[in-house]
Amino acid sequence: MTKYTVGVYKAYKNSGNLRFHKKGTKKSWKHYFIEIDEYDEDEYSFGSEWVSSIKAVILKRKQLYKKTFYCTDCESVFTQYVKKNQNECDECPNGCENDE
Ligand SMILES: [Zn+2]
Repeated sequence: MTKYTVGVYKAYKNSGNLRFHKKGTKKSWKHYFIEIDEYDEDEYSFGSEWVSSIKAVILKRKQLYKKTFYCTDCESVFTQYVKKNQNECDECPNGCENDE
C-alpha cells in the first residue's frame, strides 16, 4: 500500500469530550491521505493520522490535489490526484495512450 497525501490541516487533538474542554488542548496537525494498492489501483481507502509539525511541512510538499481532466481521445471527464503544478494527468483511466 502506498500513501498519498491529500491534505494537511491543523486540528484540535483533544476533541474526545467537547463539553469539557481540557486545559492544554492545543492544535496539532492532521494528515489526510489515500492508500492505494500497488497491485490493484481500484483498491484504495481514505485515512487520517496525527503528525508532528515537522512531518506536516514535509507532507505538504508532497501533497496531491484533486484535479479534473478531460481526455480528448475518449471524450470523458475524470478526476485524478496530481501534484500541485501538474496540469496534465499521467494517463486516462480508460486506458487511452497519452501521446502528443
Ligand atoms: Zn481517454
